[in-house]
Amino acid sequence: MPLIVRQFPCLSDNYGFLARDEATGLTACIDTPDAGAILKELDTLGWSLSLILNTHWHRDHAGGNAEVKAATGATIVGPAEVEKIAPVDRKVADGDVVDLGETRLQVIGTGGHTLGHVTYFDAADEIAFVGDTLFSLGCGRLFEGTAEQMWASLSKLAALPDDTAVYCAHEYTAANARFALSVDDAPALRARAEEVFAARGRGEPTVPTTIAREKATNPFLRAGDAAAFAAVRAAKDVFQG
Ligand code: ZN
Ligand code: FE
Repeated sequence: MPLIVRQFPCLSDNYGFLARDEATGLTACIDTPDAGAILKELDTLGWSLSLILNTHWHRDHAGGNAEVKAATGATIVGPAEVEKIAPVDRKVADGDVVDLGETRLQVIGTGGHTLGHVTYFDAADEIAFVGDTLFSLGCGRLFEGTAEQMWASLSKLAALPDDTAVYCAHEYTAANARFALSVDDAPALRARAEEVFAARGRGEPTVPTTIAREKATNPFLRAGDAAAFAAVRAAKDVFQG
């Protein structure tokens, strides 16, 4: 049975995600951008929480861990770096597997934005929770890692199945589209950008995206190698859209 994903906005531009294993009803939240919003969503749905899955240690991803755990008793799973701001019950790294009922989530090391950043990938359902590594038409800033590390991480994500639903942690897509149009003339990009501007105009989310769409339109994935990626990333860091 599938994994059901419930997505809701948190803070100014984060998304919160609840993922429920349909077979068992076991539920995880991916990151804790806003404890209040997550607890309210659980309450609305009548779901109880088993796991908190952190992608990285930043406050808008793990800052609600203590409050959500206190309210739900959920087990906190995440990379060791999360201990910088909160205790972790089970530390995970690349190659580990986290079971949520019948759903198997592969832990993929996707460092670069932070050194220990991880992605959770459900191969059976083709669902990936990528945190701040890959955004629609963009990617995370290099706060801790090198361009080489981030390029390797993005390449791992690009190798996932084309139809994989990619749950990015922020709604940055319109700003990313403005930058993408300034550096990339991919045929699919203009159409995607128009779609994004229209969706945002209607107040609709542009997340999740897919691996196929990002491979066709995302200037960071399309860079081709680490050096070219570094140049695109540097240009984005100073872009005044
Ligand atoms: Zn972050
Ligand atoms: Fe973030």
